[in-house]
Order: sequence, then structure tokens, then C-alpha cells
Amino acid sequence: MSFESELSNGNFCIPKCTNCTKIVWPPSEFCDGCYGIVSLLKGNFEGEIIEFSQDSHGYFCMVEFVEKIRIMARKKEQPQIGQIVKISTCGIKDESYFFEII
Ligand SMILES: [Zn+2]
Repeated sequence: MSFESELSNGNFCIPKCTNCTKIVWPPSEFCDGCYGIVSLLKGNFEGEIIEFSQDSHGYFCMVEFVEKIRIMARKKEQPQIGQIVKISTCGIKDESYFFEII
């Protein structure tokens, strides 16, 4: 399954090259370093809140996972910089990724 089909099923996976073990982000089928095949790591990954803002829908956070993976995620409660969070809900809506964190 591709990153996007996993994501649309509510599973956030981390794409990693099977050849050079590099994290491939943005997600791709092939490694952008060595063109190796990318596999998807599954797990309940923890990320760190790097920054956040507030709008009429609540909080919008930038969350960093391993290495260069940064996503924008919604959060209901007040976030804090440096807070360790997990993804509670994710998917694809209107052709873009969405994430909610707790
Ligand atoms: Zn590679």
C-alpha cells in the first residue's frame, strides 16, 4: 500500500528507504537519495510541537517527527512548544492530508 492509501485508512506511516534507511519525506515510492524502494513503518509515533497558531477552528500546530518529517495538525486543547504528541486521527480530505493530535 502507498503512503496515501494508508493515510486515507487513518494510518500514519513513516516512509523509509529499504536500501539506505533514509526517511523519505515528502512521501514517495522511491528514495530521493538512492532510488531504493521505500517501505512504510507503522507505529504509534510520537512527535514534538515546534510551533502553533490559533484560528477560529482551534489550534493549528507544526509537529516534527523523526528527522525531517513535519506535519501541520489540529489540536483541541492548548498546545505547548516542545510538547510530545501522538496522532489521534488522520486522513485525506479535499486532496490534502489532515492530522489531529492529542
Ligand atoms: Zn535510499
